Amino acid sequence: METTFIMIKPDGVQRGLIGDIISRFEKKGFYLKAMKLITVERSFAEKHYADLSSKPFFGGLVEYIVSGPVVAMVWEGKGVVATGRLMIGATKPSESVPGSIRGDYAVEVGRNVIHGSDSVGSAQKEIALWFPEGLS
Ligand code: ATP
Ligand code: MG
Repeated sequence: METTFIMIKPDGVQRGLIGDIISRFEKKGFYLKAMKLITVERSFAEKHYADLSSKPFFGGLVEYIVSGPVVAMVWEGKGVVATGRLMIGATKPSESVPGSIRGDYAVEVGRNVIHGSDSVGSAQKEIALWFPEGLS
């Protein structure tokens, strides 16, 4: 069955959005396979966002991700990668539609609450990076 990696970013954790976000995925019909609250090192955040290392916002993005604990999760279900991205909404909160997580809770692209894998391949890589211990 398809799985995706979802991370509630530090602003989402600090603003008390963990329960709401988990609830949205549960009510949609997806299954929570693994979850942990974790504060990551700079080098780890750089690895997670390695594809964006040439972007001008990369330094700020890494600072943001290491600024506090994040909730790392693996969710399973039919089409969960693409549907998860729809539920999250567009990268820029100004373009994410109301009803999506970013559309409902964010205004800044640099504080956009949540991450979701963008393909089945990147989901596999991200799950291996964040859950090297495997899924119990
Ligand atoms: P994520 O990978 O976090 O789920 P995404 O796939 O929607 O987001 P990416 O292009 O992968 O978007 O960018 C990763 C993250 O980098 C964004 O979620 C956002 O926090 C940050 N980011 C992207 N573009 C910008 C930008 N122009 N200015 C500042 N931060 C940005
Ligand atoms: Mg991305």
